[in-house]
Amino acid sequence: MAQETVFSKIIRKEIPSDIVYQDELVTAFKDINPRAPSHILIIPNKVIPTVNDIEVEDEAAMGRMFSVARKLAKDEGLADDGYRLVINCNSHGGQEIYHVHMHLVGGRPLGPMLL
Ligand code: AMP
Repeated sequence: MAQETVFSKIIRKEIPSDIVYQDELVTAFKDINPRAPSHILIIPNKVIPTVNDIEVEDEAAMGRMFSVARKLAKDEGLADDGYRLVINCNSHGGQEIYHVHMHLVGGRPLGPMLL
């Protein structure tokens, strides 16, 4: 059993957060430290520590994360100008919370990727 993080408490609504979408597979909420005018985290409800830990049985949740990203990007008015989806993995990827999460960021020009 993977170890829970603060994100499990957000899913269960045990701590305050700004949840913008939730269903049986995924939850999306505003990042507490937004790096752009829109910054939303989309996570599977199941505890999956990193992308390295994703299993075949998780494919439905992973696909749902993209569908929800598309919906929220439209809702936030980001779809036409564009946005960025980011998933960090482990220390070199800059991952801080070990519960897989997709960052949806947009609302301003984001500049080039790192490399
Ligand atoms: P990462 O570096 O990819 O692991 O990103 C973790 C993200 O989680 C950061 O952007 C944090 O600002 C965000 N974060 C941490 N704690 C919370 C929280 N309680 N509510 C919302 N976002 C959070």
